[in-house]
Amino acid sequence: MTETPDTTPAPQPVALPEPTTSAPRPGQLTFTAPRRGKPPRHLADLTPAERKDAVESLGHKGFRAKQLSTHYFERLVDDPERMSDLPKAVRGQLVSDLLPPLLTPIVERKADDGQTMKYAWRLHDGAIVESVLMRYPKRVTICISSQAGCGMNCPFCATGQAGLTRNMSTAEIVEQVVWAARALRRGELAGGSDDERDSDRETPLRVSNVVFMGMGEALANYKASIGAIRRLTDPAPDGLGISARGVTMSTVGLVPGMDKLTAEGIPVTLALSLHAPDDELRNELVPINTRWSVDEALDAAYRYFEATGRRVSIEYALIRDINDHGWRADLLGEKLNRRGRGWVHVNPIPLNPTPGSKWTASRPGVEQNFVERLRSAGIPTTIRDTRGQDIDGACGQLAASTA
Ligand code: SAH
Repeated sequence: MTETPDTTPAPQPVALPEPTTSAPRPGQLTFTAPRRGKPPRHLADLTPAERKDAVESLGHKGFRAKQLSTHYFERLVDDPERMSDLPKAVRGQLVSDLLPPLLTPIVERKADDGQTMKYAWRLHDGAIVESVLMRYPKRVTICISSQAGCGMNCPFCATGQAGLTRNMSTAEIVEQVVWAARALRRGELAGGSDDERDSDRETPLRVSNVVFMGMGEALANYKASIGAIRRLTDPAPDGLGISARGVTMSTVGLVPGMDKLTAEGIPVTLALSLHAPDDELRNELVPINTRWSVDEALDAAYRYFEATGRRVSIEYALIRDINDHGWRADLLGEKLNRRGRGWVHVNPIPLNPTPGSKWTASRPGVEQNFVERLRSAGIPTTIRDTRGQDIDGACGQLAASTA
């Protein structure tokens, strides 16, 4: 928890609080996001039934809600001029009340020959978040943020070092994907296909995968994040119609949040950021481990697999001479196999060193040895690729440095 000194004077009302957050002390965990002005209400915050109520309480016919949803989620349109099925007189009000602008793009940068795009967004109160859109041969993945900053304070992660500014709303989370979907429709993401048929493709690309691996710990912003999952996966026009299997929820291992997600029964992929198989090291690398240990987090991950049948991913950033020892690969394999076979795969990723970090990526031979030891224990293991390194868009580098 963030501690507030007793001497704090009574808070004065401030119109627009500064998006600055003080850096956390080593190991300090922040679960409660600072309270700031709420982002404006948006269609994507609401369930279909709530949208109907909202439209009716503005004095319009309930079916207008479906029309608006079709514009936003299916046509990806929020410009009243393009909503010709809505009477001119009501368009303006419906759009200003239910489709207010939430994200202002402040930086758009291309990398990897135009196959990767990084976006930095300014939110209504000046907080800044980032997303990264990546084209692969057979899929398009967007890495989205769920909080401005993060309270989990992992010492190798740029976002963790900056602290938690605030939770994002459901619609702010969803809008990142809608913006990306629009960019794809405009053909803004280049190349990336081995598929012959692709060269004369007539239908535009679609977002096939969404990973909650940008800024923030989504399970610490549970309600908004689960709302976003619903909006992403609900079939159009209620939502974007992305397959749940294409959505990955990544967590430091907040066990109660993992269990809640298990109970939702949505077959998204769960990724657990483990980074060490032993509590001693993990307490340092992923401070939440002091609350929920390696075994407790793995048990919760296994329960997720049991309930959903979805194979869980274990994330493991390989840090030179810190967590990349052969014995740690063996211990990880042992702990995973102890719980069962075929329920998990491991995604090692070379550490992306953050500015000023004392740590760096493992040597290639060491990385290979780590992978081979896991594979020989029967654990499917694939090195995760790192995209967007030249634009500070790579994993763990997302920080509000773009302001
Ligand atoms: N809060 C979520 C999402 C964080 S970002 C979570 O912890 O899972 C997604 C992944 O990137 C996590 O596995 C995180 O540990 C990892 N990561 C963070 N910084 C990194 C870095 N500098 N190099 C490699 N991976 C990093």
